[in-house]
Amino acid sequence: MGGGFPNTELRTVSDKRVFDYVDFITLDDGEAPLLNLLEFVSGKRQIENLKRTFCLQNNQIIYIDNSETKDFSQNELPVPDYSDLNLKNYLSVIEMANPMHSLWSNGRWNKLTIAHGCYWAKCTFCDVSLDYIKRYDQTAAPLICDRMQLLIDQTGENGFHFVDEAAPPGLLRDLAIEILKRKMNVVWWTNIRFEKSFTRDLCRLLKASGCIAMSGGLEVASDRLLKLIDKGVTVEQVTKVCRNFSDAGILVHSYLMYGYPTQTKQEPVDSLEMVRQLFESGVIQSGFWHRFAMTAHSPVGMNPEFYKTKLISAAHPTFANNDVEYEEINAADHSVFSEGLRKSLYNYMRGVGFDLPLQKWFDEKIPSTKIDPDYILRFIEEPEIPVFRPTARIIYTGIKPTAKSVTSKSKKQQTELTFISNSGIEKILIEENYGNWLMNYFDHFLISAPHVLTMSKFKEDFEKVFPGDFDLFWISKSAARLREIGLLVL
Ligand code: SF4
Repeated sequence: MGGGFPNTELRTVSDKRVFDYVDFITLDDGEAPLLNLLEFVSGKRQIENLKRTFCLQNNQIIYIDNSETKDFSQNELPVPDYSDLNLKNYLSVIEMANPMHSLWSNGRWNKLTIAHGCYWAKCTFCDVSLDYIKRYDQTAAPLICDRMQLLIDQTGENGFHFVDEAAPPGLLRDLAIEILKRKMNVVWWTNIRFEKSFTRDLCRLLKASGCIAMSGGLEVASDRLLKLIDKGVTVEQVTKVCRNFSDAGILVHSYLMYGYPTQTKQEPVDSLEMVRQLFESGVIQSGFWHRFAMTAHSPVGMNPEFYKTKLISAAHPTFANNDVEYEEINAADHSVFSEGLRKSLYNYMRGVGFDLPLQKWFDEKIPSTKIDPDYILRFIEEPEIPVFRPTARIIYTGIKPTAKSVTSKSKKQQTELTFISNSGIEKILIEENYGNWLMNYFDHFLISAPHVLTMSKFKEDFEKVFPGDFDLFWISKSAARLREIGLLVL
């Protein structure tokens, strides 16, 4: 037995009766422990050389982890083999009200991870002390595409669910570029942390590569508690990232949480108001409220006093040990929020109920919100300030434009660039000398270009021809239009 349940719940198992039903329990990544077990049962390995394995010996549970065998890195792992599973025999019949949950359950998605663990690994409610979160190891983008292709060939399905804990933005960027380079016709979705690297341009690139949905945690939707959770994001940042995804046409699902230790009676109301505004403004389309649960392997579970909580029972259970019973010191009663949060969210996801006062969703009296009615809108309307990063990549994902010389009303010679894309035809007028140079240079921007083009290289090449002009050009209306149309800085 291995996988999610043993990895979180059975790490301290001491009830021998489990071994009436299974012979071995392995922890964490399964490949190396299973290979060792196979060698053991075929007589090629001594029992004391097993890896991360519980078993019963002389009527005692023993844990063996003294093998020299190394774990496999992400780059060494093979793809799952579906060749003898007849996927066509399975129907999709579960109907779900929540858009993201129905994405999870409907249809068939090839499952892959692009990285092991979480590159952040800090959130205080999460199992950050366990291998499946804390050990971060990413796969190279070309290898992920090779695996995707193998799975498409095997299953005939081109939809992918990357089941990462929190897919890293840099690797997603490289993966999207690789998918576009190979002209793979795929759709995919994954789980992320709403961090600021998900700029407008990155979201557009991800969309172009087939990304259809993203899920991530806004959690408690409160800056005070997000800090206590060590999520590394603020409500403002989450809002802007969600706006970037939604503007790019990517569905956003948000995990929401209430009942985090120290949460006051006021805070869930303010969180709900922010969530209401996020849905009303259309930057989030799907969500789910979870009640906080303390786990033994999370920073809160390992240091409960710091979070003003007290464990109810210190004794170690003999079987499953993950969810920890606790009580809060001077706590608000979080249970009064459960039903109202659920009901309101259900309605917001359907685009209704935005005008109802928050109190209407609750049977008990709740405090009035202290959040301004345009709190979220202010963040949404704040434009992204382009920052010049010398190492940023510059890419155009469409096809090369055509150019012709035109004379403006003021008798100035200009270059008209015509871009053709799925969304139609776009034209840009640009000063003739810049326009001609850009047309000759355009192949460097294309996804098929053999070399990576960075902003510093682009600037250097530009200034060889127009010394000192780059900054002026880069803030010009023509350059802004070019970026609007799809010249991405990543
Ligand atoms: S909650 Fe998500 S982002 Fe935070 S540590 Fe866990 S996996 Fe990483």
